[in-house]
Amino acid sequence: MSYIITSPCVGVCDTACVEVCPVDCIHGPKNTTGAGVEVKELKEQEGGLEGLQLYIDPETCIDCGACEPECPVDAIYPSEDDVPEEDRSYIKKNYEFFGQSCPPEYE
Ligand code: SF4
Ligand code: SF4
Repeated sequence: MSYIITSPCVGVCDTACVEVCPVDCIHGPKNTTGAGVEVKELKEQEGGLEGLQLYIDPETCIDCGACEPECPVDAIYPSEDDVPEEDRSYIKKNYEFFGQSCPPEYE
C-alpha cells in the first residue's frame, strides 16, 4: 500500500507535498529521483506543466500521512483503495513512473 497522487495534481505540481515528505519519495514530473526540482523551470515556460504531475514512489513511501494535508488541490489519497473510481488509472501511473509493477488488483 502507498499514498497515491491523482488527477488534481495535473498541471499544478505545487510541490508542497515534496517539502514535508520525510523519506523524499515524491518525484517528477519528469525526473524519477529529483524531488520535483524541474518544476521551477517548467513553470516559467508557457504551458510547461501541461499534463504533468508528481508521483509517490510506492516502494519508499512509509505511509506517514504528512503530504496529504499539504496538497492545495487534495490530490493525495492514503491508499490505492481510497482513490476515487474515476482516478483509478492514476494508481498504475504512480507505480509505472518508478518502473514498478502495479498490483494486479489495481490495474
Ligand atoms: S500532489 Fe498536491 S502538493 Fe503534491 S505536487 Fe501535486 S498538487 Fe502539489
Ligand atoms: S505518506 Fe509520508 S512517506 Fe508517503 S509520500 Fe506522503 S509524506 Fe512521503
